[in-house]
Amino acid sequence: MTEEMRDTLVLGAGVVGLSAALYLRRSGIAVTVLDPLGPAGGASFGNAGMLSPETAVPIALPGMLREVPRWLTDPLGPLAVRLARLPRAAPWLARWLLASRLSRVLEISDAMRALHRRSLECWQELLGPESFRELVRPSGHLQIWEGEAKGATAALEQRLRERHGIRAEPLGADELRQLVPGIARSVRHGLLVPANGFTANPQRIVAALAERFLHEGGEIVRERAMKLLPRASPGGFTVMTNLANREAARLVVAAGAWSRELLDPLGVKTALETERGYHAMLPAPSITPRLPISNKSRGFALTPMEHGLRVAGTVEIAGLAAPPDERRAAVLVQHAKRLFPDLVHGEPSFWMSFRPSTPDSLPVLGAVANRPGLFLDFGHGHFGMTGGPPSGRLLAALVSGRTPEIDPAPYAPTRFGR
Ligand SMILES: Cc1cc2nc3c(=O)[nH]c(=O)nc-3n(C[C@H](O)[C@H](O)[C@H](O)COP(=O)(O)OP(=O)(O)OC[C@H]3O[C@@H](n4cnc5c(N)ncnc54)[C@H](O)[C@@H]3O)c2cc1C
Repeated sequence: MTEEMRDTLVLGAGVVGLSAALYLRRSGIAVTVLDPLGPAGGASFGNAGMLSPETAVPIALPGMLREVPRWLTDPLGPLAVRLARLPRAAPWLARWLLASRLSRVLEISDAMRALHRRSLECWQELLGPESFRELVRPSGHLQIWEGEAKGATAALEQRLRERHGIRAEPLGADELRQLVPGIARSVRHGLLVPANGFTANPQRIVAALAERFLHEGGEIVRERAMKLLPRASPGGFTVMTNLANREAARLVVAAGAWSRELLDPLGVKTALETERGYHAMLPAPSITPRLPISNKSRGFALTPMEHGLRVAGTVEIAGLAAPPDERRAAVLVQHAKRLFPDLVHGEPSFWMSFRPSTPDSLPVLGAVANRPGLFLDFGHGHFGMTGGPPSGRLLAALVSGRTPEIDPAPYAPTRFGR
């Protein structure tokens, strides 16, 4: 079955695909989004909801390698690598190590800053002021450390914040207890980043993007793209889906961690691995902090959501097919109780999804060389709720031939080969 040629098909209805789709629509382009799950069925559903315009610290940092053996010896620690995945993940892990060199870290941090600093502005632009006010809380973020040590990378993180003029206020034990009543006595160091914020419901904020997109004339179709076929004449692509053949002059691949499956058969090389992450939702909590807390000693975040406390985090390198390890979510409940010893809550629910991660913490964004009409927008890793909307604005500028307001070179798909 063939349908009439559309301008642009966006593959994926997570925060990244829908941000791009809405900005493209506002550039006067007819856009259809394809996703078998509909809006926010992937990583965009259950993340920690932190919107971090003031975060410019890459995931791979010098000195981190020293921590890795300690993390790996604890099967429920902040990092796990399943042995069966190691052969597939090895080239990505090697690139991750290269990205942790100081000279590269500074470049990556600059590119993160350029993209992230526009996050709240783009969210407001996409949602409109009323919906933005309802869904986004400009509360600041709190980072905390347990015990005396601040970790091997704290000094470099401080240097990166200073490089970008990011304000952060160190807090001692007493100030922490005033800001977050009920927090454990083992927490003695904190850092407040006042200009960050969060959404109290990631699923609802992404659904709001979808609603705006539909309202402004976009179309969302529940279909899975199975294969992308370049058309010799008249150009563009046919997308074989599970239900139809769809024709488009332009494709935007924004399928998160699944993007590589669509690009491999086309011979488009990229470096995308999934860092699987988990959450535990604690309904009816007896304690609700007023801002999200990142526990830097244990690698998780705790966010006050509309429907309870969300404890989210951990990284598991295990691919797209392995079943979840629910113990990794259960341990997050223990972490929450260690952080708030008096915390009482209802029955927790567990969730796992796939962070679409590049080795250098930057998204893959832009046109593919030698494939006219093919654009990529994925790989936002730990920061998609923050970087998704500004990426959409950048992508729409590139597609429409407008001069982008930031240099797109650091995100170019070509950095991982063609
Ligand atoms: C535990 C955890 C905590 C996190 N916390 C934060 C945070 O606090 N702040 C932050 O900024 N980021 C956070 N993130 C990261 C953020 O959630 C992701 O970067 C972001 O959601 C990625 O969005 P996406 O649209 O690229 O991918 P997804 O949301 O995964 O969407 C991809 C979509 O593509 C669809 N798809 C797949 N294959 C196909 C196909 N063949 N055809 C059509 N559609 C397809 C899927 O169904 C899915 O809906 C966190 C992630 C995790 C896992």
